[in-house]
Amino acid sequence: MTAESKATPEAVARHYDYITPFYEIIASRSLHFGYWPPGETGGSFGEAQQRFTELMIKLLGSQKGHHVLDVGCGLGEPATRLAQSTGCRVEGITISPRQAAQAERWASLHEMSGQTTFRCGDAAALPFAAGSFDEAWALESLFHMPDQAKVLREVARVLHPGGRLLVADIVLSDKATPEDRSFLQHSFVARSIITAEDYPYLIRDTGFELEQILDITPNVLETFNALATAVQGKEAEVRRAYSDEFLAAIQEQWARITETARRCMGYVVITAKRS
Ligand code: SAH
Repeated sequence: MTAESKATPEAVARHYDYITPFYEIIASRSLHFGYWPPGETGGSFGEAQQRFTELMIKLLGSQKGHHVLDVGCGLGEPATRLAQSTGCRVEGITISPRQAAQAERWASLHEMSGQTTFRCGDAAALPFAAGSFDEAWALESLFHMPDQAKVLREVARVLHPGGRLLVADIVLSDKATPEDRSFLQHSFVARSIITAEDYPYLIRDTGFELEQILDITPNVLETFNALATAVQGKEAEVRRAYSDEFLAAIQEQWARITETARRCMGYVVITAKRS
């Protein structure tokens, strides 16, 4: 999905600035997988992304007046939805300056500017005081980051004791060969995709008590079909926004990503409490 091979924070920002119009054409303003309840398939990718967000909101358990940190806020859709549905205040941080501006506009369009703030910055050095948040979530952002332990320690610092953390992340199974790993990391502009087994150690080593680790792999895999179908339905628009070559390359690469991911990618949602 990108020519970048080294996922530096700057490369991640450039990747999103380049690929965002594509996702806006084929899906929604969310940059994450879709969620399908057990036994269900079908429906649009965009709808499944919204179901995913609703599930995360429920699992985070935020309440009116709470102060929530969104680590890797993307285009601000999940944060805006969270603020709308719970009455909390959300501060989002993203490595892309353009995304921060897009997120501000999205929140303003939904009259949520009073409850949301978005800024550009690196999650490895959070511009917030210690103990200033009640909850934090990182939705599909940690796999991009060069030093996840450093980021989680930063998140622990800015949460107050007992504050909750929710992480949704792509993981690799032990079936992944070194070639699979490097292909998926390259495709997702990931610095390091870890295994589900490594996550509890990472969480505990960075100042948290693990609550639960949910394996939702079977509920997100339909994303691969749904995205391919969405692209098919929007070929003309994608061509217009990008080029014939982009469309062909993305379809070819998506087929290979799908095959590899079905074999060795997993997806986990982790909840934890700041010790
Ligand atoms: N959580 C959003 C976006 C997911 S895309 C959603 O679910 O829609 C991944 C996000 O992580 C992007 O916003 C990207 O800018 C952000 N990100 C990646 N590396 C980062 C870093 N080092 N610091 C802050 N944000 C980062």
